[in-house]
Amino acid sequence: MRLEKIKLAGFKSFVDPTTVPFPSALVGVVGPNGCGKSNVIDAVRWVMGESSAKMLRGESMADVIFNGSSARKPVGVASVELVFDNSDGKAGGQYAQYSTISVRRQVSREGQSTYFLNGVRCRRRDITDLFLGTGLGPRSYAIIEQGMISRIIESRPEELRVYLEEAAGISKYKERRRETENR
Ligand code: ATP
Ligand code: MG
Repeated sequence: MRLEKIKLAGFKSFVDPTTVPFPSALVGVVGPNGCGKSNVIDAVRWVMGESSAKMLRGESMADVIFNGSSARKPVGVASVELVFDNSDGKAGGQYAQYSTISVRRQVSREGQSTYFLNGVRCRRRDITDLFLGTGLGPRSYAIIEQGMISRIIESRPEELRVYLEEAAGISKYKERRRETENR
C-alpha cells in the first residue's frame, strides 16, 4: 500500500483544490518557511482520523479550515483525500480487492466530520480499521516528527512494545479482543 497523492481543498493554507503527487518512494517537499510543508503532513494525520486539534497544531478542530487571508475570504468546508496504490493487496480484508483505495475526510464549521472510503460514506472506525496493523495511522511510526526518535529511544519497554506490536501486525487483534471484552 503506497500513498500516491493527496488532494486538499479548504484545508489550512490550501484553499484552492490542490493535488500533491508522490510519484516515487522518496519525495522531498521543499519551500520557504510558512509555505505549507507541515500542513501537508497535518492533512495526512487528519484524514487518518486524528481527533486532537493539538496534534494538528491548532486549538480547535475548525482551525483546519482555511480561515482567510488578506486577499481571500474564509471558506466553510475542508476536505482532504488520500489516494493509495494497493496493487500489492496489503490493505486487508474486504479492501484487498481494490487496486486503488481512496480515503477522504470532510468537515464544515458547524461540526461533525464525514468520512468516505472509495467515495462511499463510512464511519471513522472503518478508516482506523483499514490502517490498523499496516503501520499507517494518525499516531503510527509512519510519520516521524521532530523529537520522536529520541522519544522512542528513551521510552519505557511497555511503550516500545506498542510500536513493535503494530509492526508485527498484532495490534489489530489486540484491539478486536479489547472491544469484544468491553461488550
Ligand atoms: P516551516 O518551514 O517554517 O516549518 P512550513 O512550510 O512547514 O514552514 P506550515 O506550518 O505548513 O509551513 O504552514 C504555515 C502556514 O499555514 C502559515 O502561513 C499559516 O498562516 C497557514 N495556515 C495554517 N492554518 C491555516 C488556516 N486555517 N487558514 C489559513 N492559513 C492557515
Ligand atoms: Mg514546518
